[in-house]
Amino acid sequence: MDGVPGPLRPHLDALASAAQAEPLGLYLHVPFCKDRCTYCSFVTTRDTGLQSATITRLLAQTQAWGEALGRPAVDTVYLGGGTPSLLTRGEFESLTRALQAAFDLSSLEEATFEANPGTVDLDWLQAARELGWDRVSIGTQTLDDRLLGLLGRIHDGAEALRALALARTAGFTRISADLMVGLPQQDLDRVLADARALVEAGASHMSVYLLDLDKACPLKAEVDAGRLSLPSDDAVADVFEALQVELPRLGLAPYEISNYGEPSRHNLRYWKRRPYVGLGPSAASQLGPFRWTEEGNIPAWAEGRAGIEVQELSGAEAFAELLLLGLRLHEGVDWEALREEAAQRNLKPLFDAWDTAMAGFQANGLVELEGPRRRLTKRGMLLSNAVLQTFV
Ligand code: SF4
Repeated sequence: MDGVPGPLRPHLDALASAAQAEPLGLYLHVPFCKDRCTYCSFVTTRDTGLQSATITRLLAQTQAWGEALGRPAVDTVYLGGGTPSLLTRGEFESLTRALQAAFDLSSLEEATFEANPGTVDLDWLQAARELGWDRVSIGTQTLDDRLLGLLGRIHDGAEALRALALARTAGFTRISADLMVGLPQQDLDRVLADARALVEAGASHMSVYLLDLDKACPLKAEVDAGRLSLPSDDAVADVFEALQVELPRLGLAPYEISNYGEPSRHNLRYWKRRPYVGLGPSAASQLGPFRWTEEGNIPAWAEGRAGIEVQELSGAEAFAELLLLGLRLHEGVDWEALREEAAQRNLKPLFDAWDTAMAGFQANGLVELEGPRRRLTKRGMLLSNAVLQTFV
């Protein structure tokens, strides 16, 4: 039987009432890629034999969750992966229709899908636009062909720029591009030139990612074996610092530690701790006091026999996240509102400890005040890990 996963069924009333209290975000995970990038640790597969069954279950899960939550309002949708642009036009249309049937999209503010530059064509993008998708996030990473080869990407820099041009031709005005930082022998001037070329090609948003080799992957094995070396922390900080200057100059204002340009309303909901439901292998959800993550085993998920990890957060845990996530935003957090909320939740000692830590960060130039708000300075953004760690 398909439907809401067993461990969540006892909580359905609470979940449905949280889903009716404010519009939700929906995330759908499409776990397929043409090839596996050398740095990737996402849940994805090249096995096209799994695609049909996985999409069939995504459709069923969309329907089941819509019913279980009472067809709640949804104001942002995000199709991520993996490579959603690998879906056939028929699959993409079926998923869109399933979302429209299962949820109330009358207040939809944004519908984003991710696309790999090596998989898009104009017809497909036009069809997506006609279906109502209004934002595309293109996995450009870098325009340096040597680095793209090292990363195992299936496209070169020219194809990345072409994907942006195609998206514009298809009618998209909200186009996000990714820029990776911390790559072996990456050159600062080249990163800045890439940023300029991406904006010139139509990117209205940029996500700047640090190469993350925490988990096992072929690129990590090369680095661990000494065959490749990563830039020093100082060199990486120089790149981030230069982008903090260059991207606003190009018209993309910062709004989060790693994100510039017209904000992604879906991603803003994560940092503002607003509710979302994720469907698909490895997808995460947060609704009411509950947070859950679906198991990332793709065949098991497609057959409806994957597990799920459910966590019920205490009031103090949820409150602490408001600060941790909110500080990532350029606008920071409303300190006085947090103070009041702490008092209401009986968490004054916790807030007093934060107050002391904040005063220290402020004295060191890592945090600044603007009216009732506290936010990270440019330097604070560069050292954000150290600051945020204090509040974990
Ligand atoms: S395209 Fe993205 S999800 Fe797919 S293998 Fe590459 S990094 Fe991973």
